[in-house]
Amino acid sequence: MNKFNTTYNEGSIEVIVGTMFSGKSRELLYRGTRAERYGQIPVYYFKPSIDTRDGEYINSRDGITKKASLFKQSRELLEKLNDKPGLVLIDEAQFADKNIVYVSQLLKRKGYNIVISGLPNDYRGQPFGVMPELMALSDAPIKNIFSVCNIDGCHNDGVLPQRLRNGEPDSALSPTIIIEGSDNKDKIEYEPRCELHHKVPEIDKYLEKQMEPKDC
Ligand SMILES: [Zn+2]
Repeated sequence: MNKFNTTYNEGSIEVIVGTMFSGKSRELLYRGTRAERYGQIPVYYFKPSIDTRDGEYINSRDGITKKASLFKQSRELLEKLNDKPGLVLIDEAQFADKNIVYVSQLLKRKGYNIVISGLPNDYRGQPFGVMPELMALSDAPIKNIFSVCNIDGCHNDGVLPQRLRNGEPDSALSPTIIIEGSDNKDKIEYEPRCELHHKVPEIDKYLEKQMEPKDC
């Protein structure tokens, strides 16, 4: 029998992963609404402040909105959460700093239920930031939510984020994090694509570069 509840699991870490438009923010907001309304559990919403697209809010595309505390450093969560344990919902965790790995475990030990949502892969298809480590810490089976590939007529799951620079696939040698909108004069957009339609020029060059010895 599944020992995990769908609303609240005291002292545990759960991870939800998916690409853009997959509904992972909606999943997080549903969790929060259920816990507040039916479980009468305190709910705390967080997201890294680097993600400026929706300001202080976590929005789902079907219209649910919640105000979130923005954090620059993950350790700020420890200062903000010194009250009654409850449900801690963290959106866009791929942008969080490495300390989120330790902060999540400290909160778990205090009895909080931490539910983390994020993109597992960056625009190159590589493991994104702290997500692989957070996925290794998930007590519940990892929930994968997929959208459909954005290419017309393709029905495959859109498992990877395609970055478009002025409408064309961006080079693997560009920075890992560029928020949707503009990068200098270039227009940056993202869309979900299947592996077949996911295009990253110069990816071989990038992968080879990762193996080069780094100067200490
Ligand atoms: Zn496709």
